Amino acid sequence: MRWTILATVSALALLAACEPAANTASVPAAVFDAATTEQLTANPLLAKWAGPNGGEPAFDKMDLGAIKPALEAGMAAHLAEIDAIANNPAKPSFANTIEAMERAGEPLDRAMTYHGIWGSNLSTQEFREIQKEMAPKLSEYQSKITQNAALFARIKALHDQGDKLKLTPHQARLLKLVYDRFQLNGAELDADKKARYAAINQELAELQTKFSNNLLADEEGWVTYLTPKQVGGLPASFVASAKAAAEERGKPGMYAITNTRSSMDPFLTYSTERKLRERVWRNYYSRGDNGDEHDNNAVIAKILQLRHERVQLLGYPTYADWQLMDNMATKPAQATALMEAVWHAAVARVGEEVADMQAVAAKEGAKITIEPWDYRFYAEKVRKAKYDLDSDELKQYLQLDKLREAMFFVAGELFGFAFTPVEDGSIPVFHPDVKVWQVTDKTSGKHIGYWYLDPYARPGKRSGAWATTYRSHSTFDGLETVLGSNNSNFVKPAPGQPLLISYDDANTFFHEFGHALHYFSSIVEYPGLNGGVRDYTEFHSQLLERWLLTDQVVDKYFRHYKTGEPMPKELIDKIKKAATFNQGFETVEFLGSAIMDMRYHSIDPTGIDPKALEKQELAKLGMPKEIPMRHRSTQFGHIFSSEGYAAGYYGYLWADVLTSDAAEAFAKAPGGFYDKELGEKLVDKLFAVRNAIDPAEAYRDFRGRDATIDALMRDRGFPIPAASGSQ
Ligand SMILES: [Zn+2]
Repeated sequence: MRWTILATVSALALLAACEPAANTASVPAAVFDAATTEQLTANPLLAKWAGPNGGEPAFDKMDLGAIKPALEAGMAAHLAEIDAIANNPAKPSFANTIEAMERAGEPLDRAMTYHGIWGSNLSTQEFREIQKEMAPKLSEYQSKITQNAALFARIKALHDQGDKLKLTPHQARLLKLVYDRFQLNGAELDADKKARYAAINQELAELQTKFSNNLLADEEGWVTYLTPKQVGGLPASFVASAKAAAEERGKPGMYAITNTRSSMDPFLTYSTERKLRERVWRNYYSRGDNGDEHDNNAVIAKILQLRHERVQLLGYPTYADWQLMDNMATKPAQATALMEAVWHAAVARVGEEVADMQAVAAKEGAKITIEPWDYRFYAEKVRKAKYDLDSDELKQYLQLDKLREAMFFVAGELFGFAFTPVEDGSIPVFHPDVKVWQVTDKTSGKHIGYWYLDPYARPGKRSGAWATTYRSHSTFDGLETVLGSNNSNFVKPAPGQPLLISYDDANTFFHEFGHALHYFSSIVEYPGLNGGVRDYTEFHSQLLERWLLTDQVVDKYFRHYKTGEPMPKELIDKIKKAATFNQGFETVEFLGSAIMDMRYHSIDPTGIDPKALEKQELAKLGMPKEIPMRHRSTQFGHIFSSEGYAAGYYGYLWADVLTSDAAEAFAKAPGGFYDKELGEKLVDKLFAVRNAIDPAEAYRDFRGRDATIDALMRDRGFPIPAASGSQ
């Protein structure tokens, strides 16, 4: 069962009333009501997938009218299965409790796969209405499981027996993850506290929604309109989209700069209108902090108060202490120590960057002091002057199809995977643009799974790029193979034309493929061992980015789209030389937010005034006046729209420490990034084990020691601290 919130507890496998799975004899059959039984038999979104090894989703038979009854019946069936497990008169055993839980909920899992496609790839207003209605029901269903006292009593009974159970290492790890997750979510509380816990969660869900809506209102409400005389410096493509945005808002002939990052960032980078830059900057960084009906300060204070109260019920001193229990950094102090170690070097670098910019401004005769709204504008000028890197020239050598081949090449060299396109129509897809490849073992020919690629933007598809699974690997109930997918938002080229992408997009393409390779390499026995650890989960994907600039990839796949010529060496050198550019800005704006996040969640928030605290803490920290937090408190959706990254925003940096350290091991290996021995070690120790081994231990197995921050500091062009700690 894949739970969206309780990500580490998961199982797949089937259990419809009419088709009991092989190993369920020790669990009494679940009792379903008539409506549920009917849906389980007739609803296409709950139906078993056709094909061997678990089959593939029937994406060609998706019917939006069927999703609500599918979710309702799927939840009811899963809860009935959970009750059968919890109330089993037989003594708790690993098989009749943990394995049975892994096996339960498969019909809902299938329905959630389609739900995910509608949510991310094919959204419509009609779907969003259904989603809004179903979200609280899904959340209530999840609490019913974690708060099931009889179920937790069985889990605890097993957990308390420790080594006496004689479990395999994978089983022991799964039991620990399940136990921790239940325990961290209030399974042990008495009835009164459980009720309070649930009430807090409900209030938090409402406040977090309010936070997002306020933010959205300020993003939609504050638009800066330009006249044709005010578009100086802006790229033609940006001007065209700003014109269209103004027309959409009933202002034909004007240009709209909306209050979002994708509009603000290029405007501040290119606009020659300094006063307008200041206005756009102020609008953006004041979101949620305008003292009006959309102000988020009071909302934040209340959210922090409730989170604090909830973890106090569980006996934790602060929210951060609770949140980090199942992270790689298990204590807030470890995360803070890392952030502090990088902070001073990054601030020093900002000083150099500002000096460079001030010099450019002076040379131009601009009598100004660099202000926050000047940073991106002058940084761009410094970039051109120092590195002479032309992104349009780069693009001519970066064709999407060739980069995909390059990824397959890397997957073949490193993981021993072969990717073969399947014939159109042989595996169902949800849109004709989606293509599917079969993944096999290059040597044995063994089937590993299918890889789905949905490359192009379309209305109703969420922005950005992401990776996901439709099914993870497991073997405990018969082999189930991986269905992994990568999704991007490239503009579809005219038929027969190559799709040229930017260097950043090429990096992202590799990044997301790294997530996919992590899915495909899994060897774990139980589905619940495929879950991610918040501050570790970006490591594998970030690491794969490092293969993009390897000679093997560059020589063979970076080819001019017209002439087929390889990319000139000077251009490659320029890319490499520019790698540490603007790292002061990027690191400081990130760390400002990450440190503030940890601060908010490490204090008793009683009577807190977020606006005052933010100001006071940043001053104490010595935040350079030219840079705001990447996400100021009142706009910090990562930590206040949900609990996804609350006390966890540092995780990006934590994973990057591992990335740099592991990449350096390859750079120094005899065979470089294609070193056979090290490559095998990487796959075995760090990819294939998923969450079956504690990540810190897995990393030590790979590297022979803990990661240190030295490589990260080198990658960012920062000096190495004299006595750097290890992670
Ligand atoms: Zn990622």
